[in-house]
Amino acid sequence: MTLARVLTLDWSAAGAPKRGADSIWIGDTDAHGTATHNLPIRADALDWLERRIAGEAGTVLLACDFCFGLPAGGARAVTGDDTALALWAWLAARIEDGADNRNNYRAIAAEMNRRFGGGGPFWGNGAKEDIPDLPRRKPALPEGIAEFRKAELADQTAGQRPMSPWQLAGAGAVGAQSILGIAALERLRGQLAAAGKRVAVWPFEPLDGADVIFAEAYFSLISAEVAAEMKGGAVRDEAQVRLHGQAFYALAEGGGLEGLLRPDASAETLRSEGWYLGAGRADVLRRALPAGLKPPRLRNDCFAMPQGVDWVPIDTALSALDAALVPIVTKTVRKTHEALGAVLAADTVAHRANPPRPNSAVDGYGFAHAATGSGVQTLPLVTGRAAAGQPLDGAVPSGMAVRILTGAILPDGVDTVVLEEDCATDGARVSFDGPVKAGANTRKAGEDVDAGRPALPRGHKLRAPDLALLSALGIGEVEVYRQLRVGVLSTGDEIVSRPDLPAEPHQIYDANRPMLLSLAAGWGYEAVDLGHVKDRPAQIAKRLDAAAAKVDVILTSGGASAGDEDHVSRLLRERGTLSSWRIALKPGRPLALALWNGVPVLGLPGNPVAALVCALIFGRPAFSKLAGSGWATPQGFTVPAAFEKAKKPGRREFLRARLNADGAAEVFGSEGSGRISGLSWAEGLVELPDDAVTVKKGDPVRYLPYSGFGLT
Ligand code: AMP
Ligand code: MG
Repeated sequence: MTLARVLTLDWSAAGAPKRGADSIWIGDTDAHGTATHNLPIRADALDWLERRIAGEAGTVLLACDFCFGLPAGGARAVTGDDTALALWAWLAARIEDGADNRNNYRAIAAEMNRRFGGGGPFWGNGAKEDIPDLPRRKPALPEGIAEFRKAELADQTAGQRPMSPWQLAGAGAVGAQSILGIAALERLRGQLAAAGKRVAVWPFEPLDGADVIFAEAYFSLISAEVAAEMKGGAVRDEAQVRLHGQAFYALAEGGGLEGLLRPDASAETLRSEGWYLGAGRADVLRRALPAGLKPPRLRNDCFAMPQGVDWVPIDTALSALDAALVPIVTKTVRKTHEALGAVLAADTVAHRANPPRPNSAVDGYGFAHAATGSGVQTLPLVTGRAAAGQPLDGAVPSGMAVRILTGAILPDGVDTVVLEEDCATDGARVSFDGPVKAGANTRKAGEDVDAGRPALPRGHKLRAPDLALLSALGIGEVEVYRQLRVGVLSTGDEIVSRPDLPAEPHQIYDANRPMLLSLAAGWGYEAVDLGHVKDRPAQIAKRLDAAAAKVDVILTSGGASAGDEDHVSRLLRERGTLSSWRIALKPGRPLALALWNGVPVLGLPGNPVAALVCALIFGRPAFSKLAGSGWATPQGFTVPAAFEKAKKPGRREFLRARLNADGAAEVFGSEGSGRISGLSWAEGLVELPDDAVTVKKGDPVRYLPYSGFGLT
């Protein structure tokens, strides 16, 4: 079975909006991973599910952690019919569940109890007031009614015991959630069917040809892995929807879901009580948790350069780096207006057309084109006017005109607008010269983007204009990758970490760390200051250990060559995962690439000019790839040189440069790689090719402005 998407729903019977533990969590798993959502209100969660399912072209499994049925005999006692689906209809007709989560489930449970003769089997009234026919404590069960369903008995011996559907309240109870959940799903089923989706409720209905499968699940089946995620700080419900979503998705991919969809139970049991996916088969779910859906790990030798390569050309180094890195997979949902700099983790689709309705592009007069001709046209004006946000109340009869302002939706009867500057009016009539082009000065509905059309694709990094587009299209929240965390560490015995501290003559202030931290922040990443360490391998190792636990990638500067004091490269080599790349690049040369506890480390040269050039040339595309927005190539263009230079073959060279008033590139007076003032003087880099060149004034050279590296 192929599923495009698995939605895992952890429901809640809260009587008021609620977030966090024991509230509503939804896991949304597809081929790219799992996003989790925490919604405080049931009605909003239903809307969300409806939109998500309606917008998915492939098959969706909606797995819900509440009971789809009652123990045998329950449905009959309540509805007179033995099928669980009769109970669904019965509940949906009676449950009221408001926009503030206030609801009547206790009254409905009491009503059901009366149909059993009163006093049970539903129990667990946790409200202040007593409710007739709804006991607070567990009552004796009515004659012939069991405490558990057959599916629940299959897991009663396991560590996690499903609770009885009759128990409404108390820790872990599922009864109230089930009553509210069944009513909610029955409504959702109707809405989706009305939208043209074929919905099948498992195991009550055949699955053939279904677009959407609703299935019951029990999110305590995978418990050890959930506990492990909770140690990492996850809320239990969130870990549950994530892991069960991943397991179901992987089972569908691997062909194992079919088995779970055909449980070993009688047709009678399935129809009247229902079943949950994986009842008694926790082992199958756990085994399905796929390595492929966990964040991919980099291979230890991923940065290895081909044997025998001494000087690595830049382009070779860049493609090796591109091939070695794997994007992070964790997704979250953000409000659109708070998503600047985030990378879309899913394609976006217009919820609404822009413009939503035909409207006027100018201030003027609108009318039906068919009633106009050549020569001077004089049309009587209707009373009232159409303005943006203030539509005309009523239609404009053919042969009449209406005062209309920019952005006003075209009233019925209007398809054409004349600019007010081209009109004369006495307040009662308007005249202008014909003929006028049909549809002139109007904007068609959806002429910009139509509802349902693609907006921005996955991998797109959101900029200010993108927020405008998404907002106009009614996209209020977006699924994005978690922000990339970039750690920055400086090394060196001579370094003083901050310029407000005293420095001895033999010491220098740390220039690289503020530069690299702000580069990372400017690129939209979380810049994590890992501070400065002296050239002591044990200290560097300790700092890297701590860093690897909290960041996605580490930038170090200093100590990256092969010299005596180059402790960073030595350490990385000793831990066995270093590839020191001697890159045919000036300024730069040694670039250390390694994995530290699975986290990529880019060891930049210490001198600030080389550190910046390497961060721009290697760091920027690498981070972009890791962050989910793909490999990034800097934008450059060809300009005349305002300098002269003879360059030897072998290394590509980057010169600190800026454009003069004539648009020609001038370069900084000194090429000394310690000259930080030149970095600050420059507004970009001139890139000279790997081969030898002689540049004369006026010769074309390639100029890469800082802005092309996203540096502002
Ligand atoms: P290294 O790569 O450690 O051999 O350092 C090369 C040069 O860069 C030396 O002159 C260092 O003093 C200098 N350097 C290293 N780290 C920094 C830093 N964080 N800020 C400024 N200069 C540095
Ligand atoms: Mg050093």
